[in-house]
Amino acid sequence: MPELPEVETIRRQLAPHVHGRTIVDARILDQRWTRPDPPGPVEAVLRGAVVEGLERAGKYLVWVLSGDRYLLQHLRMTGTLLYDPPAPPAHTRVLLEFDDGHRLVYVDPRRFGTGHLVHGESGRDDYLSARIGIEPLTPEFTAEHLRRLARGRTAPVKAFLLDQRRIAGVGNIYADEALFRARIHPLRPAGRLTAGDWARVRDGIEEALSAGIEAKGASIDDFRHVDGARGSFQDLFLVHRRAGRPCPRCGTTIRKIVVGGRGTYVCERCQPRPRAIGRASRAAVPEGQAAGPPPRSTRT
Ligand SMILES: [Zn+2]
Repeated sequence: MPELPEVETIRRQLAPHVHGRTIVDARILDQRWTRPDPPGPVEAVLRGAVVEGLERAGKYLVWVLSGDRYLLQHLRMTGTLLYDPPAPPAHTRVLLEFDDGHRLVYVDPRRFGTGHLVHGESGRDDYLSARIGIEPLTPEFTAEHLRRLARGRTAPVKAFLLDQRRIAGVGNIYADEALFRARIHPLRPAGRLTAGDWARVRDGIEEALSAGIEAKGASIDDFRHVDGARGSFQDLFLVHRRAGRPCPRCGTTIRKIVVGGRGTYVCERCQPRPRAIGRASRAAVPEGQAAGPPPRSTRT
């Protein structure tokens, strides 16, 4: 799924092409895209609208349109925007044509992506504030803010980072990469992190997201640039999808575990496992005493 850096990459690539252009034709080929609204009235508003800006909020692409309208687009699992593709791609869901003759095609094999048209800044803000929390890479994104959000939360910190209603734009890739940078184990209860821990998590999130934007996103699945090219951040992952390979910091073998149902990658030397949920065999043996090799059966 595209995360903040992938959506930001699309925004940066697309904005110069569409800014100031008039949409001369709009065809929504999939009723699900605008649900619960019917596609017809949305098409009617898009036709003739001028693109006044292309912004981003979390994983949403925000089209600023003339007439005080906003189109809030989410790519979900498999959505891709292609600018002037050479041939009509399979799974095309939406077609936009601009007054300079160029075309934008929205492709989405699994059809989870959405596009919602709202009226006015308050419509936009209401829509977004019901769905996404604080935006990283802004001055408001502080360690103290994160600590307040997490107060009393017993959920693992990784699950906390993935909750879009608290923090916008961080998904499975960047949560793993951020927690590794911060040296925090993904299973640690969010409410138990100290102020110092949150300072490192905050920095880790911003470093991971910035590196992702710099590399123009990660193409481990369907993500493509607007010209169909792949991002390169997947070649720079420190731990994500690197199970069995050495930690780039200490050489310990990176493990894959499951946190909140998501595959999670961790160096358990750099990111010590919280004692309360350590393996039972270890918890029973005081630190420093020989306990023999760790049981293989738990290393799946
Ligand atoms: Zn390590």
